[in-house]
Amino acid sequence: MPQEKLKFPTLFAVPNAPQSAPEHEFYDDLPEDVGDEPEVCPKCYGAGMEVVPGKGARPCECRKKKTQNKQLDKTRIPKRYTECHFHNYKAFNKSQESAFRFASQLAMQYPAVERGLLFMGSVGVGKTHLAVSILKGLTERGFNCLFYESGSLLKEIQNSYNANTQTSELKVLQPILDAEILVLDEIGATKPTEWVRDTMANIINTRYNDRKLTIFTTNYLDDKRNATEETLEERIGVRLRSRLYEMCKTVPMTGEDFRRTFDHVTPIKKK
Ligand code: ADP
Repeated sequence: MPQEKLKFPTLFAVPNAPQSAPEHEFYDDLPEDVGDEPEVCPKCYGAGMEVVPGKGARPCECRKKKTQNKQLDKTRIPKRYTECHFHNYKAFNKSQESAFRFASQLAMQYPAVERGLLFMGSVGVGKTHLAVSILKGLTERGFNCLFYESGSLLKEIQNSYNANTQTSELKVLQPILDAEILVLDEIGATKPTEWVRDTMANIINTRYNDRKLTIFTTNYLDDKRNATEETLEERIGVRLRSRLYEMCKTVPMTGEDFRRTFDHVTPIKKK
């Protein structure tokens, strides 16, 4: 990708540094009106234009926000990740701090980047949270982004398979190949049959050849922690793992499952 310095508008989705993890997090500390948005814009009262004294009229901020929301809908980020942003990511250890750094740098520096990222680590360490935050940042900057959980993608391709023509519908595949930036979540999760490996390799190689950026997450590691565990290479095959080395910087993430940790430290809200 080109290396020249490009000028970009301010990226509001990307703060300077991650919040460090608080010792305890209490829902009780949140103000009651967090998340409440007025139905009618207080600046333009729904007209979409704002009058600036002495300067005239200009498109209101709320219009920009609506356009961005529409763009965000097109990325297909699942509803359960709606609240994932860089600003509410908390780094619990060094690996998570450095994962945040790589993620936010990518969101700010694209397209002046060489490779995508492969977030690698056990369940619940925030891999998808960071991948989604990158997509939101890049969507805000006007790039065409797409999110797919790799299992659902394979299912959609399989469902569109036409036995007569022995092909899958291009209407499923085309947006995946066209997206400027793609997140493929949980690569390696689907049982590795020959078809699964070939299909994944096809998609990933096509994007690689077209010099399109892909960001991956996986729960499989490069080294076994015990005899029964499978490695990423065993799940996706030697050739595809090798291709991912070329396409992405591997970002290992360690830590406890965030959902469990949060459960321990968050007392039930008092009535
Ligand atoms: P993974 O992809 O590693 O399995 P997720 O990103 O899906 O984990 O995280 C599971 C849930 O925990 C999500 O709701 C996510 O927002 C939250 N979460 C995980 N790690 C963090 C973190 N470091 N800071 C804030 N939220 C987190």
